[in-house]
Amino acid sequence: MRRAGARETTTAAAMLQRLRTLARDLPRRVTFMEVCGTHTHAIGAAGLRQLLPERMRLVSGPGCPVCVTPVGYLDHAEALARQRGVELCSFGDLYRVPSSRGSLERLAAEGFPVRIVYSPHDALALAEQHADSDLVFLSIGFETTTPTVAATLETARERGVRNLRILPGNKRIAPALSALARDPDVRIDGLLLPGHVSVITGAAVYRFLAREHRLASVVAGFRPLEILAALIELTRMLLAERPALANLYPSVVRDEGNAVAQQLSERWFTAADADWRGLGPIPDSGLRLRERAADWDASRVAVELPEAREPSGCRCGEVLRGAIDPPDCPLFAQRCTPERPVGACMVSSEGSCAAWFRHERASRPVARAAAARAKGDPA
Ligand code: SF4
Repeated sequence: MRRAGARETTTAAAMLQRLRTLARDLPRRVTFMEVCGTHTHAIGAAGLRQLLPERMRLVSGPGCPVCVTPVGYLDHAEALARQRGVELCSFGDLYRVPSSRGSLERLAAEGFPVRIVYSPHDALALAEQHADSDLVFLSIGFETTTPTVAATLETARERGVRNLRILPGNKRIAPALSALARDPDVRIDGLLLPGHVSVITGAAVYRFLAREHRLASVVAGFRPLEILAALIELTRMLLAERPALANLYPSVVRDEGNAVAQQLSERWFTAADADWRGLGPIPDSGLRLRERAADWDASRVAVELPEAREPSGCRCGEVLRGAIDPPDCPLFAQRCTPERPVGACMVSSEGSCAAWFRHERASRPVARAAAARAKGDPA
């Protein structure tokens, strides 16, 4: 993150003061959720969480694509990799995420070909170079990633590339927020909505949050001042008892989103029920490939899957629902570190546990959670 200039620091101090003044009138402690992993890192890097008013809590949500990818998806990928002639292509973040029996890293150590790629186009290039192999691209991500996979399929079709397959694990964020809003165990008063995803989806897809669930929500950018402005706006809405949707990132997010990217995705993908780590199955929250993409669809290849098993003691599911903060997990910074991660939220660079480890290990909430555990109190 770039260093703040003197004027920015003065503005941030004034905004914090404004937030604290507003928060004094809140009738109780409120909880806001930052949905996106990039926000979690920005908040941690700027030290914002420690500066919040006592009556305000910020929890992380399900906006890290690697973290919400369920263990069953990785099991499926591994089962495909064990078939003759198959090579997996994966984003690097997925490489060390535990599956039921190991991980892609372990699979590679056993001698199965697992390649790290930076985009689906890289996987396509590899497929063209290795005509005698079946390249399977592990397609995970939110609405920002899906259009690039769709564009790759367009190119594969144009060039007649048939040895590239896609294992679709793509997710849609709005249905997940709908599931969270309906979950009686999740208590949030407002949402800091993801800026990047909203560029594609548009802000309008979140309007149901206020209409159906009376949840305040703000689309926000990632600079500390933008995050503070979003928190002020959320607080104002709560005080006025008028939950609504506000778009504070209008320079890049429009109400209707990016129609070209949406149409590209819709040509190849269609909504489907999907399983999320921590949230379970959610109707229409994922994408499957359409019939026209059948030749490239790795999910149509029959494989035998083991019973899905999460890493023992890992509480990623609760972290992803905002039910606990990462330091509340007894393994945090003990058995689980970025060098030796136990769960997906510590593996992924966008994961909440990784963000807290990197930026907030020495903070008061971390110390409080550790002290509570030492006393045997529930975290
Ligand atoms: S600290 Fe590690 S084990 Fe605990 S929830 Fe996070 S990723 Fe899972």
